[in-house]
Amino acid sequence: MSRQKFSELGLSSEVLKAIGDLGFEEAAPIQSAAIPVLMEGHDVVGQSQTGSGKTAAFAIPAIEICQASDRSVQVLILCPTRELATQVAEEVHKLSTYKKGLHAVPIYGGASYERQFYELKKGVQIVIGTPGRIMDHMDRGTLDLKNVKMAVLDEADRMLDMGFRDDIEKILEATPDERQTVFFSATVSKQIRELIGKYSRDPKSVKIEQRELTVPTVEQWYFETQQRMKFETLLRLVDFHGFKLGIIFCNTQRMVDELADDLIAQGFSADRLHGGIAQAQRTRVMNKFKKAEFEFLVATDVAARGIDVDELELVVNYDLPYDAEDYVHRIGRTGRAGRKGMAVTFVSGRDIYKLQFIERFTRTKIRRGTIPTAGEVEERRIGGQLEKIRALLNRGNLSTSVVDRLLEEGYNSTDIAAALFELLAGPTESKPPAPEVPKAPEKAVASYSPNLRPPARGMQWVRLNAGRESRISPRDIIGLLEDSLGLPARTVGMIDIVPGQSFAQVPRQFLDVLRDAPRVIEVESGSVEISLFESQKPEQKYLKKPRTGGKKPYHGK
Ligand code: ADP
Ligand code: MG
Repeated sequence: MSRQKFSELGLSSEVLKAIGDLGFEEAAPIQSAAIPVLMEGHDVVGQSQTGSGKTAAFAIPAIEICQASDRSVQVLILCPTRELATQVAEEVHKLSTYKKGLHAVPIYGGASYERQFYELKKGVQIVIGTPGRIMDHMDRGTLDLKNVKMAVLDEADRMLDMGFRDDIEKILEATPDERQTVFFSATVSKQIRELIGKYSRDPKSVKIEQRELTVPTVEQWYFETQQRMKFETLLRLVDFHGFKLGIIFCNTQRMVDELADDLIAQGFSADRLHGGIAQAQRTRVMNKFKKAEFEFLVATDVAARGIDVDELELVVNYDLPYDAEDYVHRIGRTGRAGRKGMAVTFVSGRDIYKLQFIERFTRTKIRRGTIPTAGEVEERRIGGQLEKIRALLNRGNLSTSVVDRLLEEGYNSTDIAAALFELLAGPTESKPPAPEVPKAPEKAVASYSPNLRPPARGMQWVRLNAGRESRISPRDIIGLLEDSLGLPARTVGMIDIVPGQSFAQVPRQFLDVLRDAPRVIEVESGSVEISLFESQKPEQKYLKKPRTGGKKPYHGK
């Protein structure tokens, strides 16, 4: 569904700037429909579902028609409750931030009169209030409505249900006849129609029908992550849950290309679909994906229309869709035919507002998830392997000929098993072995140039002089960093364990203690030195290595 941009609605630069701050990218349908009509000065009866953006639909024109140089009340907004009045006032405040000299004040019962007197006396152009308290101020002579150009009845149906009809009529009668009258309501009852007939002239009806959205019963999660951490987050989630087949949605072709390349560089099988790819190729990719010939499809909305893959376990909104309907289409690709599926949405910065909008629009709860730490992923991976091994052991009937050969050569069965484990998956021991942590000779370190990717922004690599042969595990490294640098375990980024040394990405703010000298940490079997590591080549992007046997890129091997 294509939407209008706010910049196409003829708004002032001040209001556009404020809308940008709010993070609204495109106008909601009720906004595209109502704003131009209101700006032309027509009376309007607006009708749309809760959560569809009605507040801004009337607040924006209200702000635009106000004369900041004139300090009399020019817009009156009536709301049924103090909570709603407060909410609307907040939105008006935000939207009018850059309009110099424009003031808006909420007026509702239960709040101190003094403050309201003071504000009203100072001069405000927009008053947002509940009918009762507005009447009160009119009676006291502290609120003058004779310059009102626009009167808005927000949630008119509720105000009538609450018995405000007489008050509303008295209030409207205190405003000039030539005012613009705006009714917003979820429903339009006979009573409201009477009110409209009596107090508006040739009103334009603006109605947005809600298309029925059937939100699939998939587990929906969102993860707050910064833009630059999205890739890392994706890798962790995929590894933690062991996803094997998923679609990852991005909003731009460029992002699709970048992400597909990055996934392939990490050893995943991935392919891409976007509008910039020739149709014949798209069909090929689509067919391969349907047959699960690769793991992850990275796509834009347009290109992925109509994809129907039954075993799809995962849909990732790598970028939050602009449109709530797109969200529903995207996540509807998983959890088909009663299968289990998971929909994951990455949220960065102001996306959270958009997500709340989508939640309201779709009337579903999207739960907040926590990104698994490197340690948790590792733990899960080991757990999974143990599970498989147990299953094999329980099944029995294992061929022992190769093991027998090693036993005959004099190795013991524990060592053989440990060696196989290491071969399969990297170190599993959480304790460095006795008698001592082998220190990497300085020369060897200098000659070995680790293929590290540049650290994420705000992060820096630190080096530990214990490597693969010391059987140091990612958990050990996280523990050491926690103890020595005082950082929380979850802030540790990528970990790479290589011969003779290990590396970990750590947020820079924890590194002051390492500026001048390395830290030496005593461990059971000796000591480990932690130091800053800065000499990566900037053009090296990601560690390139095949993903085989469950190797994970961030704990390295
Ligand atoms: P309604 O009055 O129709 O129930 P609201 O005006 O309270 O809905 O808006 C619901 C939510 O949607 C609010 O959190 C609001 O900030 C957000 N919202 C409104 N317009 C937009 C937009 N164009 N883009 C994104 N979010 C929006
Ligand atoms: Mg509302």
